[in-house]
Amino acid sequence: MDCIFCRIISGDIKSDIIYRDDLLVAFRDINPKAPVHLLIVPRKHIACLADVEDDELPILGHLMAAANRLAREAGIADKGYRLVVNCGPDGGQEVAHLHLHLLGGRQMRGLG
Ligand code: 5GP
Ligand code: ZN
Repeated sequence: MDCIFCRIISGDIKSDIIYRDDLLVAFRDINPKAPVHLLIVPRKHIACLADVEDDELPILGHLMAAANRLAREAGIADKGYRLVVNCGPDGGQEVAHLHLHLLGGRQMRGLG
């Protein structure tokens, strides 16, 4: 398996994991774009949002709920935060394993 996020999930590659459950793992982005920058990643390897099957839709709800909870725990929920999903080359996706970026702790501007 050459997917870097699958290797982080399996523990093969070390990362700063801050939450895990049956369906997902959350860890700090190695190259943070904000004071809080977490990646929320389903354990199941799904390459991108466009590949999500109907029976996998509950995973998306679980990712979003975890993002909200982690934002609260990180102390950024009150002032606000941003969730980003990049999909495919034009979306700027670099790692082909579905993930949410949770960004906060500063004023977000623009959509790049
Ligand atoms: P994408 O562009 O695919 O939406 O985002 C991939 C993110 O994964 C980037 O923000 C990048 O900094 C992060 N990333 C890439 N490799 C690693 C890694 O080995 N460990 C961690 N913690 N983050 C990574
Ligand atoms: Zn993967």
